[in-house]
Formats: sequence, structure tokens, C-alpha cells
Amino acid sequence: MNQDEAAGDIAAPVPALFPEPATRGAADARLARLVDDALARVARGPVAPVLDFETAARDLARFDFAAPVPLDDLVALAIGQLEHGATHMTHRRYFGLYNPAPSHPAECADRIVGAFNPQLATATTSPGPVAMEAHVIRAVATQTGLPVGSTGHFTSGGSEANGTALIAALTRAHPGYAGHGVRAFSGPPVCYVSRESHLAWLKIAHQAGIGRSAMRLVETDGCGRMCLAALEAAIAADAAHGAVPVMIAATAGTTNAGMIDPLREICRLGRERGIWVHVDAAWAGGAIASPRLRPLLAGIEEADSVTIDAHKWLATTMGCGMFLTRHADVLPAAFHVQASYMPSNSPTLDPYVTSALWSRRFLGLRLFLSLGATGWPGYGRHVERATALIARAADGLARRGWRIANEPRLAVLCAVPPQGPSAVAGIVRRVVASGRAWVSAAELERTPVVRACATNGTTTVADVDALVAALQEAAAPGSPARA
Ligand SMILES: *Cc1c(COP(=O)(O)O)cnc(C)c1O
Repeated sequence: MNQDEAAGDIAAPVPALFPEPATRGAADARLARLVDDALARVARGPVAPVLDFETAARDLARFDFAAPVPLDDLVALAIGQLEHGATHMTHRRYFGLYNPAPSHPAECADRIVGAFNPQLATATTSPGPVAMEAHVIRAVATQTGLPVGSTGHFTSGGSEANGTALIAALTRAHPGYAGHGVRAFSGPPVCYVSRESHLAWLKIAHQAGIGRSAMRLVETDGCGRMCLAALEAAIAADAAHGAVPVMIAATAGTTNAGMIDPLREICRLGRERGIWVHVDAAWAGGAIASPRLRPLLAGIEEADSVTIDAHKWLATTMGCGMFLTRHADVLPAAFHVQASYMPSNSPTLDPYVTSALWSRRFLGLRLFLSLGATGWPGYGRHVERATALIARAADGLARRGWRIANEPRLAVLCAVPPQGPSAVAGIVRRVVASGRAWVSAAELERTPVVRACATNGTTTVADVDALVAALQEAAAPGSPARA
């Protein structure tokens, strides 16, 4: 405490919040050790949580926050709740919902960003970080095949990125939308996604004011891809009734099954009809890293905008989405605003003028460090090994009489057990309860399936074989799994 503060009766900084550097350094070192020890136990234990919500909530009742508790105790409690009370993305046998084991460079990024806590609302405030994010976005846009001059930004996740796509499409579709909202249109604006798309689209339509019913759920082709004929028919019917088609959102890598809508054909249709085409590649966008897998995404480079989540297949920490667009002018048109207290107002540089958020965390460092440390070739190997592991699982299950319900060319597998779809729920419950692996139940084309995705970059062949054995045992309780 300095003299002036003491003289003015101003208390010293609150030490529990702002400890001296030496205290802080020692606490950091203890924390790092505790986390490492916990993760080592996690690797040997069950994938699913052993702590239920009621118990977890009861444990917290003693915290009334009236008096301080030593940080070391709180940290130990928090690590315990994560070790015992969460599904483990870091477990090699988590075959889950696109949530990755985090890359180490991304964890480093979180540590650095937490320490400096920069504000990325403007390039004036944080020129270094804003330049780094713009650089990474350009690199990803280029790798996606979007033209020079494409732009975009990091988002909280795929949902925000998809929401940005809808706002961009509406803004582009009518010059009066920014001022008057959907009232500017001659009829109700409508959008098209497939029935197998990510249904956050309904919330997005609700938030944008076009309403949930404006999100047309187009029929699929029997294997989880948008049916082009059904799309054309829906557009024609809407236009005939005075509705205004503003966006087609193709899915590249459905959440259920990793299936890819016919991107080229949808882009062509969008161009012909003057409808914005967005490609939601939240998970499968990771395939841009692999020359072998990239052809599966053919057509994505023709889209007006694209969503890719770095926190899915690119394995950064959550949440780290990206919105990319070839129309650099649409973002400031959609998100422009002025405020006297902001230090600058650049429609090309300042993220608060070109995106939905205002205060902004330095998310892009996670991908900068990860991409920098491994390069596109490293990420290519990462996604290719995931597809190879899932191909092995598909093969193992098929040989045991399971029906593979999707085309598992990416790293997701949907399988129906020999006993039929009605056995799916029980099998998934038994496998998850056993702690041996984590898979989920899903529906593909209205049929229950067991869904497994290789999300952890360290999963091995032995883990996949263990998954197949666990599924087989759960499918035929009592009979020992064949090797
Ligand atoms: C995960 C996912 C989303 C939602 O992204 P979040 O990052 O969870 O907000 C949207 N679309 C697809 C295809 C997804 O897989």
C-alpha cells in the first residue's frame, strides 16, 4: 500500500483477488500439479461422471459466500467436481458429440489470454491480438477455398456463427432490414435447412425475428443429406405464396451422422435464385486440413458464408467458432454502431463493428498456436487418423452383424445392432454405465442408431477395439464379447 492510499483511508488491493506475484506463482504451480494428477486418474477411470447432479448440488450448499475460503480448498473442490462430475472429453474412449480433447497449444493460449485479459472489441485497444485473429481467419478462409478478400471473425461457437449467417443473409436480401427488420420485406422471409441439420437453427430464427416456422426443414435423401428436389419444390412453393427465400443453409457434416449435403448443387441453386448460401461445417470443416478428405467438402468454396468450429475437429478449447464470408462488406452493414466512448470505429478492423459481440475474448490465439505448432499437414494427419479409427470401428461392428446406417467417410459412425433399432437405447445405457466408453443414441432418418465419433486426437486402435467389444457385449448381455 502506498502512502497516499494509506493517508486517504483507501484499503489495500483485496489480496484474495490480487495476490502478490510470489504467492500467485506458487499457487499456479500447485494448480498445474493437481490438474495433471487428476487427468492421469481420469485416463484410468470411467468416461462418464460418477457424481450425480443432486449430490453435486448438495455439496455446494455449504458455500454461502459470507466468509472467505482459502483458494487452495476451492481449487481442490473444483477439480474434484470436474474429475467426478463431468463426462471426460480427455478420455481416449469418449466417442462423443464433437467435443474434443483440447490441444495443448490451445490450453497454452487460454493461460496466456487469461493472464493478459485483452479486450478485443477494437483494433485500437488491442492491435496485436486483433491482427492475429484476422490473420488466422484469412488463413482458414484461404484453406477453405474462399476468394482473396474474404473475411470473418471468431465466435463463441457454431450457433453464434450460424446466427451471424442469417443476419448477414437478411441484411443482404433487403436494404431496409437493418432499419425496419422483417417488416421491410414484401412477404415473410424464409430459410431452408435439412431435417437432419443442427436445430439451433430454430432458436436462431426465433432470435432474428423471422420466427421458428420460417426455418423450413427440407426432407433428406434417406441417408441424412438434404434432398435437392425437395429443396427446389419448397422454394417454389414459398415463392408462389409470397414468402421471400433469403437463405439456404447446407450442412457439411450433420451432427447425427457426419453427412454432407450436396454443396455444389445447393450453391448453384442459390446463385440462380439470388439466395444466400451458408455452409454449416461446424465439425466437418476440420477436413479442410486434409488433401485426402477435402474433396468431400467440394463446393464449400462457392458458399456465401461458412461456419467452422475450431473447438470441434480442430481440437481447441471451447468455445471457438468461426464465421467466414466472401462478402466483406456485409458484416459492417449488419453490425455497425457508434458509441462515443469507443476509441475507434473502423468497419474493417474493429470487431465490435463487424460482429454480434462487444467485449471480446482473444479466442483466436487458440487456433493460432495450434495451427502454428502443427501446420495444416499436422492437422491433416489429425483428422485423417480419426476417420481411419472410425472406419475400423465400422468394420468391426459390420463383421459382428451390425448395420452401418450412415456412410462413415468422416469420423462419425451410426450403427444399428443386430437386435434392431429398439435395442439402441439399452445398449447405449449399458455401455455408458460400464464406464468403458462413451457413445450416444441418435436418430438417423428417424431410425434409432448408436452414434460414435472419434473426437479425441489421442484415441488408439486398442480403444476402438475396446469400444467395439463393449458395444457387442452390451448388445448381447451374458455372452462374452468376441475379440
Ligand atoms: C455443433 C454444431 C453446431 C453448433 O455449434 P456450437 O459450437 O455447439 O454452438 C451447429 N451445427 C453443426 C453441424 C454442429 O455440429
